[in-house]
Amino acid sequence: RVGLRKHSSISRVLLGGIFNKGFSTQTGSKLEGKVALITGAASGIGKATATKFINNGAKVIIADVQQELGQETAKELGPNAAFIACDVTKESDVSNAVDFAISKYNQLDIMYNNAGIACQSPASIVDLDLAVFDKVMNINVRGVMAGIKHASRVMIPRRRGSILCTASITGVMGGLSQHTYSVSKSSIVGIVRSLASELCHHGIRINCISPFAIPTPLVTDELTRLYQGADSETIIGVVNRLGTLEGAYCEPIDIANAALYLASDDAKYVSGHNLVVDGGFTVFKSLALPAPDKVEK
Ligand code: NAD
Repeated sequence: RVGLRKHSSISRVLLGGIFNKGFSTQTGSKLEGKVALITGAASGIGKATATKFINNGAKVIIADVQQELGQETAKELGPNAAFIACDVTKESDVSNAVDFAISKYNQLDIMYNNAGIACQSPASIVDLDLAVFDKVMNINVRGVMAGIKHASRVMIPRRRGSILCTASITGVMGGLSQHTYSVSKSSIVGIVRSLASELCHHGIRINCISPFAIPTPLVTDELTRLYQGADSETIIGVVNRLGTLEGAYCEPIDIANAALYLASDDAKYVSGHNLVVDGGFTVFKSLALPAPDKVEK
């Protein structure tokens, strides 16, 4: 399935070009005058979305626990990007990041709760490591709740805003990852539904995006540990061959495009939604019928 087009794109990934090419030159004005705060935006999906938002007229605050990388990313994205150190497990950090947006730009229009981690965890529930479970839920779920809480604090008085969260197809379907990560991501879908019921009364929309597998550090670091000795091109090839949609694979730009839609007025009547970006992977399973001469009694 990895054809020539895919190989050339894999090389782009390895050169770091995937986070710049393909979308940095595509500009628009869908977010003109808007201010966005994106957690976990030093890298991967968050960085691609920050780039997309800036190219559509937004000012973006990159909030991430990785300080050096976050600062580099903000510098790379130019004057409309700013970095603030933020560990989403610390409510005060999340609160400060929101207050930073207000003090710097006087408003917060878009809050994208995207920071998350993967984990290695035994396959069986009987071997579940509850310390790992707590750590993952602390970042992937509690961190998202903190983001929604503090974004709502400043959005409710303005009676407008768009809140986004990154869920995952592993939260849509069972069996796509170990339980801990899967449970953390299915929680996001529930959080969005629950919060939509309150925030709609204040004119605030909340939605999540469920991406398919993308070879960002979150995934490649885990697979590098699993396939010890495999080079990064091999690892990226493994991830990109997981999909079912012929001729394409899931990239950070696909999630950035979904985020732009949900954050902008294009989605002005969309709330409580889980936008699955998976090339159709979770909606079907092909039945491999045996050939007529191979049917067993
Ligand atoms: P990534 O590793 O490139 O980015 C994750 C970012 O989150 C990093 O910059 C990291 O420093 C930051 N982060 C981690 N813990 C944090 C904390 N406590 N506080 C603040 N920032 C923190 O990976 P990514 O794929 O871009 O991940 C972004 C989101 O997408 C995650 O929520 C992930 O679960 C989700 N997701 C990823 C995939 C995939 O295949 N890559 C698929 C579905 C969902």
